[in-house]
Order: sequence, then structure tokens, then C-alpha cells
Amino acid sequence: MNILVSACLLGVNCKYNGNNNKVEKLLEHMQNVTLIPICPEQLGGLTTPRPPAEYVEEAKILNNIGIDVTKEFAIGAEETLRIAKLCNCSFAILKERSPSCGSKQIYDGSFQGKVKDGMGVTARLLEQNGIKVYSEENFEEIL
Ligand code: SF4
Repeated sequence: MNILVSACLLGVNCKYNGNNNKVEKLLEHMQNVTLIPICPEQLGGLTTPRPPAEYVEEAKILNNIGIDVTKEFAIGAEETLRIAKLCNCSFAILKERSPSCGSKQIYDGSFQGKVKDGMGVTARLLEQNGIKVYSEENFEEIL
């Protein structure tokens, strides 16, 4: 089984600040499956490091210096979907609360660490295409 995973959860330094969000227990739990690492924001053409970005309106994503990155996020989501299809992934494990990867919550646009219910761009596109999205908080439900 191939499972798409946010690369930052596997220890890849693709996070906006050049670090990662490695979750050891995810690697331990998923030893018998093939993990396909992706970072939608990098696939969308954004640099690493990069200014953090949040949803400020329903379909508008700005970074914290006011630049509209909605298009880059959309491109990253499409490229991630392409990889998911190429690799026959039925499941994804994506970083919760990210404006790309969040599946239940996202940051609220205030850049103050506050969250609201909602999905990131990539998580939503994957779900719309039949790929079930989990996060680092509930991935154990897959196996
Ligand atoms: Fe991780 Fe997703 Fe953000 Fe990339 S876009 S750093 S994979 S949370």
C-alpha cells in the first residue's frame, strides 16, 4: 500500500521556517507501507524558507507580508493530486492546521496561532478526488 504523507512529518525540512514536524511514531507505525513524501507548498513553487501563509478569506491565502499566494497553493494541490494518482494512493496523512495540509482545522488568518475549523487546499482537493485524508493526530485509524 502507498500512502501520501506531508514530507515535513517525515523529517524533511520543507516547513516555512526551514525546519520540519517529524513524528517518530508515524514512521514506526507505518513500517510495512510505502510512504510517498510530498510538500504541496514546495510543489507550488514557493521557496524554503518562506513567509508563513494563512487563509484570510474563504478562497484567499496571503503570507504574513501581504503577498497573495493563492495560486501557488492551488498549483501545489494539483501537483500533489497528480502524484497521488500516479502512485495509486487511497490515503494521505497530512499535517494538521496547515493552510495546505490541514484536514480538520486551519490557522484563522490572524497570524496569531489561532485556529478554526476547515481544510487546507491540498487536503480538500484530495478528499474531492476520493483520497481519504488523515493527519498526524489520527493516522492510526488507517491500519
Ligand atoms: Fe508540511 Fe504541508 Fe507545510 Fe509542506 S505544505 S511544510 S508538507 S504542512
